[in-house]
Amino acid sequence: SAHRIDVVSIFPGFFDVLEVSLLGRARVAGLLDVRVHDLRDWTTDRHRTVDDTPYGGGAGMVMKAEPWAQAIDAIAEDAASEPVIIFPSPAGERFTQATARELSEEPHLVFACGRYEGIDERVYTHAASRGRVRAISLGDYVLNGGEVAAMAMIEAVGRLIPGVVGNPASLVEESHEDGLLEYPSYTKPAVWRGLEVPPVLLSGNHGAIAAWRREQQVQRTRERRPDLLPD
Ligand code: SAM
Repeated sequence: SAHRIDVVSIFPGFFDVLEVSLLGRARVAGLLDVRVHDLRDWTTDRHRTVDDTPYGGGAGMVMKAEPWAQAIDAIAEDAASEPVIIFPSPAGERFTQATARELSEEPHLVFACGRYEGIDERVYTHAASRGRVRAISLGDYVLNGGEVAAMAMIEAVGRLIPGVVGNPASLVEESHEDGLLEYPSYTKPAVWRGLEVPPVLLSGNHGAIAAWRREQQVQRTRERRPDLLPD
């Protein structure tokens, strides 16, 4: 059955792009069941208020607990199994390819996209009674909201779901799957604007090609991401 992903945001239109490309096709093919919700649908006042000033003072606004609790309750009550509830947050654990793998094995993910200075902390406690909660960061920088982070995670997770990417072999050789960055790739023509494709790739010698690629992976990782290599 389809992997289900619910997204809650005050900007549901952000997720329109999920209708294009591989993920769009996966939805049409019934591999992915993505449901995008407007948080304001769970407000009850005339102004559809989702934020208020922070206790203790400070700049910015904080998202109110009640609309979030209503949204999470409604989604959890409609779920076939206990979902994993993800709060994109710069204060969360770091998102990696390993996280994407783990999440791709879950039948139901919920992304709760914060805005402003974030969400009232009690929402996390409440959500833990409805699913397995994870606060996850895309990286060490600050975005305006959780939407772009959720989108990146949905794309990284979605392409690991069997059937979404046509050729599963193309997933195995990628950056980060073996702890190294990917080797450089070339396509025709063999000479382009005076620049040549490395001759080994034209040799037909599969052993030599594999060795060259491995060497390139290690060299590139050493130059660009030494933190990925063992000390
Ligand atoms: N005051 C918060 C802090 O310092 O941790 C930052 C709030 S940020 C302006 C608003 C929202 O954007 C956050 O609640 C979160 O949902 C999202 N966000 C910002 N940076 C992110 C990141 N690196 N990874 C994931 N989500 C992020």
